[in-house]
Amino acid sequence: MANAQEDELQYPLGARVPAPAEVLEVADGVRWLRPALPFALDHINLWLLRDREDGPGGPREGWTVVDCGLDNPGTRAAWERVFAEALDGLPVLRVVCTHMHPDHIGLAHWLCERWQCRLWISAADWAMARAVTLQSGDAHSGDSAAAFFARHGLADPDSLAKVRARRNYYVTMVPAVPPRYRRLMHGMALRVGAHAWRCHAGFGHAPEHMALHAPTVGWRHGGGGASGGSGVLISGDMVLPRISTNVSVMEFEPEANPLALYLDSIAALRALPAHTLVLPSHGRPFVGLHRRIDQLGAHHAERFAQVLEACAHEPRSAADLLDVLFARALDLHQTVFALGESIAHVHALAERGQLLPVPGADGVLRWRSAAGGDPQATHR
Ligand SMILES: [Zn+2]
Repeated sequence: MANAQEDELQYPLGARVPAPAEVLEVADGVRWLRPALPFALDHINLWLLRDREDGPGGPREGWTVVDCGLDNPGTRAAWERVFAEALDGLPVLRVVCTHMHPDHIGLAHWLCERWQCRLWISAADWAMARAVTLQSGDAHSGDSAAAFFARHGLADPDSLAKVRARRNYYVTMVPAVPPRYRRLMHGMALRVGAHAWRCHAGFGHAPEHMALHAPTVGWRHGGGGASGGSGVLISGDMVLPRISTNVSVMEFEPEANPLALYLDSIAALRALPAHTLVLPSHGRPFVGLHRRIDQLGAHHAERFAQVLEACAHEPRSAADLLDVLFARALDLHQTVFALGESIAHVHALAERGQLLPVPGADGVLRWRSAAGGDPQATHR
């Protein structure tokens, strides 16, 4: 579904997207793979970077993989075809994950074992992924998650029962995480083949998301290198062209204000050139980074205004605000994410002093606008 904002961005590859298990060259030495996901968000973009490493036996040619896909038979099969047909007969030398979410890190254990290579990821995301796979239960499952959602107004007994009954949700998609890794840190330059990719840490979506920017990688309209521009940003989930990034408060960090962190993080990406080719984890590669950052800022400002307006008339819980923030019907998977996002908006406004908590006798936490009947008075 296209929207007006999406049309403000440019898509150098047009409408072309790779079929499952096909790869497309999107920039000089950068290939795009797009396996299916079993969610409303039905695909993820993975990237292959032409690489060369120095070893004891001399330089070795191969590929760096950026993000891995969910661990399921379809994605494994897609990778097998890529190994056989799309790597020019060369090995995978390294696996990079932008962050610890299942669609990004799910198959990292399998890729690293198969190619006897190392996972590169931020320390926070590696540690979180390891912890969640080694313990039972996670942020979206079990009694404590259900209690957290109930506190924020989720009342539907069926939904709460499903959250309670769901165990090890993360582990069904990420059965294992490599026990050793190499650490990506903000500001470090990752040398991949002839190019240096600078790490940009981002917060609010994942513990310590890493986007990667290579100012020297060339691209052109229609794909491949040269004659379009230079500079490529692998943006992961931090900047997506069509949908807004999920920014949620979760049960294990209940007082968090991730939306303020997220907005600060994407604002920092304005330091990159406007004509950078952005390779997002979902949707199509695009040009228009600064415009997209503007759009995302405006989107959240509009959400903030809607929340303040709704909470000016009567106190509302984060669950009450789902109708205000989301125009469509949500399934359980979507409700869990949407409720986390609703709490994130509420916490951002509370930290600015624009919303005040109203604990209910029923155990539900509600919020009212600090400005009483005039939300415009405090909205910037
Ligand atoms: Zn993610």
